[in-house]
Parts: sequence; structure tokens; C-alpha cells
Amino acid sequence: MADRDGVIWLDGKMVPWREAKVHVLTHTLHYGLGVFEGVRAYSTVNHGTSIFRLQEHTDRLFRSAHILAMDIPYSKEELNEAQLAVVRENKLEEAYLRPMCFYGSEGMGLRADNLKTHVMVASWDWPSYMDPEAKEVGIKIRTSSYTRHHVNITMCKAKANGNYINSILALREALESGCDEALLLDNEGYVAEGSGENFFMVRNGIIYTPELTSCLEGITRDTIFHLAAEHGYEIREKRLTRDEVYVADEAFFTGTAAEVLPIRELDGRQIGSGRRGPITEVLQAAYFDAVQGRNKGRYDWLAPVAK
Ligand code: PMP
Repeated sequence: MADRDGVIWLDGKMVPWREAKVHVLTHTLHYGLGVFEGVRAYSTVNHGTSIFRLQEHTDRLFRSAHILAMDIPYSKEELNEAQLAVVRENKLEEAYLRPMCFYGSEGMGLRADNLKTHVMVASWDWPSYMDPEAKEVGIKIRTSSYTRHHVNITMCKAKANGNYINSILALREALESGCDEALLLDNEGYVAEGSGENFFMVRNGIIYTPELTSCLEGITRDTIFHLAAEHGYEIREKRLTRDEVYVADEAFFTGTAAEVLPIRELDGRQIGSGRRGPITEVLQAAYFDAVQGRNKGRYDWLAPVAK
């Protein structure tokens, strides 16, 4: 990743990709206290390349920083502009963006005072998180042996760097056992989310999703709430158990990277027909319509990168 052409926004200026470096004593590298976002830009039918729900991602970045009591030395407007600029200046038509706020190498130790918050925004081409076929046939998942974060251990509402140790362990375990993704349960044993996705299931025409207690407040999740309402579907937030998922008619994950991804199997049990279900298909199509600028009522979700 480090050896490529292009530019990265770092602390207020564009720097050549290969020169966007930090010192080995970077505080966040040692202790994991930092916050980041995962954002996407899509090529749209009438707005050119546009970042999807840019403002909501920037707002969540600031909320994450607030939760961890990190000061961000830039305004939301400056970081919005930085994100638009990295896509534009790297001449990307479709892109994944990674804004991150991290502590520098000004000091070491857990006291974490006298540290400066540094900010970077990188952007690159990252077409599909999963095998493109998975969007139709769905993925195979397993219940993780790792429990999702507890609200009073790490701060679940912050998209914090260190929180992702739990995600990486769960995903690796799932991949090593021949699955595509993990389903993590909360500390009481109820369904929480995937390693980097929110979870939904459908039963008897009603859509269910876990309450957000120990989950990240997904922006794709929120998008699905809006799109489901447009299509007249009811979504209920409630505690879900793994065996409710076994007998669901449909299930899917949502996330900026994963988009709307059908789940065909959990723990060796087929879910519904064993491929993308009809409500998942409608919402997935509605999602792609929204991100690609085909939903007239949702143009305000698009931030065009062209000046
Ligand atoms: N949960 C976790 C743990 C995540 O990392 C992500 C990805 N940011 C999500 C859910 C989905 O969030 P979003 O739809 O905002 O990408």
C-alpha cells in the first residue's frame, strides 16, 4: 500500500503518497487510541464522482473523537474538503476513503497528555470488498467465539482504531474455518454485528436488526432504514438470538465496504432459500440506486468531487 503514486492529505497539505510517513514512536501505533472512518465515492449517473453521505461520515468521525476526548485541529468543513480533494487529485472515479485522527510521537505513556492530534485522509481504488458473486448468492458466516465489545470496556460508538483487534480476530477465525465473515454476539449472547458490518434479518415480511447498544451506528444501516421506509417495509429493532437467525427467511449485512451483502448460511444452517432473498434484493438495488445517483429524492446524500 505504501509504494504507489498519488497524494495523501496529511495535517493540512497534500503530500506525495510515498512520503506520507510517521515515526515509530507514534502514540496511536503503540496504544491504539485513534479514530477513523471508512467512506466511499461512487461514479454517479448525473453528479459525476460523488462521496456518499460525506457529512454523516465526518460527523461520526467527530463524535468518535469526542467520545475518546481527542481534539481534532480542523473543522468539519476542512475535513469534508480534504476528502473531496483526495479523490479529485488522485483522479479516482470510484474510491474508498480512509480519514484518520491519531496521536503523534510527541510523547509516550498512558497519560497521553502533551500529544498532538494528526489527521490524514487517503483514498484509493477498492472496487469490491467481497467476491462480486457474493452480492447475489450470499455469504457463509459463523458465530464468532469472540464476544463483541462491551459498552463499558471499549467505547462501542466510537470508530476507534483499537476496537478493530476484536474484528480482526473474529474475521480471521471465520476465514480459517471456511466462512466469509463472522457474526459477533454481545456479552449477553445476543446478536451484535459482523466484524465490520451491521446485521439485518427478515421474517414473515418484517425486517429486524439489533438495537445499537454494542454496535457501531452504521451509516449504511441508517441508509437502509430510509430506503426500507420508501419501499413500505417495517424495521423493528430488537434483541436477536442466533437461533432466530437460523430460522430467518433472509439475512444480510450492511456496511460502507460490504454495501448490502446477503447471508446464505450461519453455522452450517441454510437461511431461507440459501441465496439472496426478495426483500434483500429490493433493498440492495435501492442502495445501489442511491449511491449511483438514481434516487432523485436522495441527491442530498451525494457530495460531488468536481469543483
Ligand atoms: N460495524 C462495524 C464494527 C464497522 O466497522 C462498520 C464499518 N464502518 C459498520 C458496522 C458499518 O458501518 P457503516 O455502514 O457506517 O460503514
